[in-house]
Amino acid sequence: MNKNLFQTFLKAYPVIYKPVWKENLLLSFVDVFHGLSFAVLIIATQRFFDAITVYLGGTGSQNQVISLAWTVIFCQILSQLLNGFVNFYADVVREKGYGRICVMIQRKIQKTAPVNFEKNDFLDDMNKADQGAQEACAMVDTVNSIFTFYVPYFVLMGMYMYHLNYILIISVLLVFLPVLVTNYVQMHFGDIIEQKIAPVRREAEAYEKSLTTLDNFKETKVLYAAKYFIHLFQTSVSQWNQVSWNIRKKEAVINLGLNTFSFLAYGVILIMLVYLTVCGEISVGSFAVVFSAIDVMFYLMQEIFRDSLGNVAKNMGRINNFLNLIQSEEISQKSIRVKDGSIELKNVNFKYPESKQNCLNHITLKINSKETVAVVGQNGSGKTTLSKIILGIYKPDSGEVIVGGEKIDERHNCFPDMSAVFQKFNRYKLNIEDNIIISDVNDESGYLDAMNEVDNDLNIDPEMILSRDFDGIDLSGGQWQKIAIARGIHRSCKILVLDEPTSAIDPAQESELYHTFMRIAEEKTCVMITHRLGLAKIADRIIVLKDGAIVEDGKHQELLERKGEYCRMWSLQAEWYQNQTIGSKDSV
Ligand code: ADP
Repeated sequence: MNKNLFQTFLKAYPVIYKPVWKENLLLSFVDVFHGLSFAVLIIATQRFFDAITVYLGGTGSQNQVISLAWTVIFCQILSQLLNGFVNFYADVVREKGYGRICVMIQRKIQKTAPVNFEKNDFLDDMNKADQGAQEACAMVDTVNSIFTFYVPYFVLMGMYMYHLNYILIISVLLVFLPVLVTNYVQMHFGDIIEQKIAPVRREAEAYEKSLTTLDNFKETKVLYAAKYFIHLFQTSVSQWNQVSWNIRKKEAVINLGLNTFSFLAYGVILIMLVYLTVCGEISVGSFAVVFSAIDVMFYLMQEIFRDSLGNVAKNMGRINNFLNLIQSEEISQKSIRVKDGSIELKNVNFKYPESKQNCLNHITLKINSKETVAVVGQNGSGKTTLSKIILGIYKPDSGEVIVGGEKIDERHNCFPDMSAVFQKFNRYKLNIEDNIIISDVNDESGYLDAMNEVDNDLNIDPEMILSRDFDGIDLSGGQWQKIAIARGIHRSCKILVLDEPTSAIDPAQESELYHTFMRIAEEKTCVMITHRLGLAKIADRIIVLKDGAIVEDGKHQELLERKGEYCRMWSLQAEWYQNQTIGSKDSV
């Protein structure tokens, strides 16, 4: 094991072992006998062969031959039974452990700070953690069996051979060395191939996706881009084959050398055995069993190094992804209730983890309870980020967020008094009712009211799962958005945040929804993020963001008269609508 492998093992072992420690202990206990039974079978077989030789020479007893034959049969049955049990139970323990670890992973993800989801490394760890856990379970299983099965077996075989003739101990080394070196070489070349091929493979996979996934397929087909992608795909696959061929050639030459070495080692052992037998140093029975045991030892050595440890080394990256996730920092947050829906931000600054510059700069803002505030600004001005800061999903790098008189920080959130309709809302693979009530499962009956507020003519079969994966139906973007709005307003709350809530809804229904929002907003504080200024116009107040800072704050008419950023945006939109001749300036 190299140093990294060893360190990873030390970290992963307790995490994997603990959830199924009783089962692991039982498995290890039986596995020791499993290893010993193999070795005892060899010794019994040697005694049996020797007894037959003596009996055939006319001096031995028939009873002894028969009783040794029974012993061999008994040992054979026992070792097969133990083998079957260990194989079966090892799978059971691994699956049981893996199940428990998957639950552990999900719990861990719930305790991580939401801002971690903006970090590429964290996303990578999270996406590969499941597979990493599976590999880590296999690693623990492998190392356990090395100590409980392989080591006892080889120690006993070593002692047995030493007892027969001390020179025979060399044969264990002659088995061990070529297998060790061969597998090291294979791992080394495997690593090189993986490093060189990974970028080309990622490229090929991306081209393949452009050709085959449902989302990409339609556009690629209609725009006649398939030929272009097939050419790119072909080029990367040939590059991939070329790299692999060049490295595999070298590997094959080295392996040929090592196989010759193994063959010679085998020959040396055979000569040694024949010599010792002819000189009368060991019996014919010993010769027979040692010769057949060498084969088993070669096989077991290959099994440890190539199949077990080789796979562990290959999957090290994913095991590390799993460990990073499990060891990542947790936040323990307490949900608090707030007295009203007032919001205050004091000199808030925020930067995304992977970004170099601040996304929000010195935001100072006060929103009164039950006030309706529209946040407007160009794309990328920081509107969605501001909504996440207000909701308490992200914590500011500096400054304070105070909601309903309570300070929101790493340790406190006020989610129980908040609701939201997100720009990138979730499309849960549930029926329509469950899609809505999950925002407030204690109010099952209220879901129809929420649905009717949004659209009383949606006409979706209530039994149907909203996903084709479960033989259900899929909805249009607008229908999905209405469900997301219904989910947001179904939840009773003091503060409602709407982030571009009508982006996928057609204009006629959109203006109806504006009135619905206004009605709902009478009872609560409402922060509406929008670039539809028609919606902003009906808010109590408008906040204009530019480059992450508040540049204007006031009522619609006041901001128009100020002739600043809002006025400019309003004029542009009005002009656009007029050019489209679909309404008057007031309908913007
Ligand atoms: P808006 O909602 O006004 O369109 P956002 O709040 O989504 O703006 O984004 C504001 C700025 O932050 C943009 O410049 C955007 O590129 C950047 N940004 C958004 N999300 C991330 C992220 N996960 N990592 C780094 N930068 C981000």
